[in-house]
Amino acid sequence: MLNIILFGPPGAGKGTQSQFLIEKYQLIHISTGDVLRAEMNAGTELGLKAKAFMEQGVLVPDEVVIGMIDAKLKESSNAQGVIFDGFPRTIPQAQALDALLESKGQPIRGVLGLEVNEIELVKRVLERGKTSGRADDQNEELVQKRVSEYNTKTKAVADYYAAKGKYHSVNGIGEIENIKKDLFEIMNKI
Ligand code: ADP
Repeated sequence: MLNIILFGPPGAGKGTQSQFLIEKYQLIHISTGDVLRAEMNAGTELGLKAKAFMEQGVLVPDEVVIGMIDAKLKESSNAQGVIFDGFPRTIPQAQALDALLESKGQPIRGVLGLEVNEIELVKRVLERGKTSGRADDQNEELVQKRVSEYNTKTKAVADYYAAKGKYHSVNGIGEIENIKKDLFEIMNKI
C-alpha cells in the first residue's frame, strides 16, 4: 500500500495535485473537507456537528474527524494506496492515523508538503471562491482564520513527520506542471 499525505495550508494546491497523483499511482482519495461537505449537504448527524465549525473557519473536533477516517478506510481496504488530503490537521489526528495504519501494517510512506506563502494563499482561495460555491472561500476574514488555524494547529504536523524522516517539502508556487513533476519525483523515491 502506497499511503501518502498531501500536506499544506488552505489554497496550497492539494486538491489540484491530488488528481494527478491519484491517476498516476492508482490511489484512493480521502479529502476530509470533501467528506465533511458531503455530510453537511446530506444533513447527516456528522454533517450537523461539523457545520458550525466549518462556517467559522475553525477545525472540526478531532474525535469527529478521526471517526470519519476510520469508516472511510474500511471502505477502501482494497486500494493500491490512499492519498490523505486535508488530514491529519493536528498532532492527535496524526497519532490516530499512524496507530490505525500501523495496526494494519500499512504505515504512511511519505508526507508531501506544498509550501506557499500567506499572501499568495489568501489570494488563491478568494479567487477560487468566485467559482467554488464555498462560502468559506468568499470571505477574507474567514480565509485568514483558516490560515491562522493552519499556523497554530496544523503546521506542527510537518515537524511530527519530519522527525520520523517522512516529510518532503515541495515549492507550491510556479507552474502546475512543474509542481506535479516535483511531486512525482518524490513519489518515485519514497
Ligand atoms: P481548505 O484546505 O481549503 O481549508 P478543506 O476542504 O480541506 O479546505 O477544509 C474545509 C474546512 O473543513 C476546514 O476549514 C475545517 O473546518 C474542516 N476540516 C477539513 N478537514 C479537517 C480536519 N482534518 N480536521 C478538522 N477540520 C477539518
